[in-house]
Amino acid sequence: MKKDFWKRLDGKGYYIALILCAVAIGISGFVYYRTAGLEAPPADVPVDATGPLEGASLSDKPTTPTQTERKPLKLQMPVEGQIVRPHCVDCLSYDPTTRDWRTHEGLDLAAETGTPVTAAADGTVYTTYQDETMGTTVVLSHEGGYVTTYASLSPELKVQTGQEVHTGDVIGTVGNTALLETALGDHIHFTVLLDDEPVDPATMLE
Ligand SMILES: [Zn+2]
Repeated sequence: MKKDFWKRLDGKGYYIALILCAVAIGISGFVYYRTAGLEAPPADVPVDATGPLEGASLSDKPTTPTQTERKPLKLQMPVEGQIVRPHCVDCLSYDPTTRDWRTHEGLDLAAETGTPVTAAADGTVYTTYQDETMGTTVVLSHEGGYVTTYASLSPELKVQTGQEVHTGDVIGTVGNTALLETALGDHIHFTVLLDDEPVDPATMLE
């Protein structure tokens, strides 16, 4: 019986071996696939991308109501002077220095050199610096994500970075240090940002 069995397999042994090999390869392949399949998702699925984003959106949620609830900042003009060039970000206004039409994120207030420039609202001196094109600049940060900048000041400033200021405190004096706006004469370039977006200061006056 056994002999018959092996006899019958005679000649077919090669094919059986081949089939067994194929099965073995198939199983090992399947095992590898399952193993890889188990390990792959954490690597392939952008866990890092979705994780922090979901985390960020969750952590952002509590701040969203405060953004809608926050009070608009009330401003006091930093200089008693004529507006010689208005704020204009969705439009073009003529720039006498560059002699072309362009947007203007700030409000240009003309006054004689040496005229005191005051903080437009309570806040903290975020930084002071010499800008290549906009001259001596003071940046104040305020509650609610507001930032006010005062450019084209005289180089001698009255405040330092980190200093707390109140509305009306003198931070510097009018100069004509903005190379980009020399044709306007003595003036300051006053800008208001809300969450890094320019806002028209004229709409925020007390
Ligand atoms: Zn300007």
